[in-house]
Amino acid sequence: MARYTGPVCKLCRREGEKLFLKGERCFSKSCAFEQRAFPPGAHGRRAQFRRKVSDYGMQLREKQKARRIYGILEAQFRRYYRLAEKQTGMTGPNLLIILERRLDNVVYRLGFADSRSQARQLVLHGHFDLNGDKATVPSMLVKAGDKVGVREISRRATYFQGMTERLEHSSAPGWLALDAQSMSGQVLALPMREQIDVPLTEQLIVEYYSAR
Ligand code: SF4
Repeated sequence: MARYTGPVCKLCRREGEKLFLKGERCFSKSCAFEQRAFPPGAHGRRAQFRRKVSDYGMQLREKQKARRIYGILEAQFRRYYRLAEKQTGMTGPNLLIILERRLDNVVYRLGFADSRSQARQLVLHGHFDLNGDKATVPSMLVKAGDKVGVREISRRATYFQGMTERLEHSSAPGWLALDAQSMSGQVLALPMREQIDVPLTEQLIVEYYSAR
């Protein structure tokens, strides 16, 4: 299945809540969800009043929401779920921790990008090093101790001009350490569930996959 390239604001309207997929715009009055908080489509406005969602529907929606937040295709998401199942501990939190460990997410969390999709583009275009080596695969999973930084050659790019000043005003979550001056960050430890601020009920995702 191809990656979704349509209007991302429709995804928020479809899920019935803000997923914060567009960076700064999500916090402004231009947010499409603020203006049209009903599902997209000709019958979207009426659909919001007659929806009675089954258990399966709720589980499916939660799984889709997680995929949309992290920008992941179904097959890969299922692989992450299987990996989470094999790990010790609870599958739901394990899954979220795996998603947070993606390189594009770490770039986003460190403040180098406004959104995960922008972070994904930056990684694909080769602007980042992982432990000193060029890293161009957004799905790479980081581990404790890993260092992520803007490549020396990329610091001259227009996008990264003034980045140090911007980073100095941002803060990274507690499991990451940001060094604004060197435009780099380190994974101090893998995140704990309570450090992951995504609006997801992971138990519903576990129920979705457990039933099939
Ligand atoms: Fe969602 Fe952000 Fe678009 Fe608002 S601006 S609808 S939060 S992606």
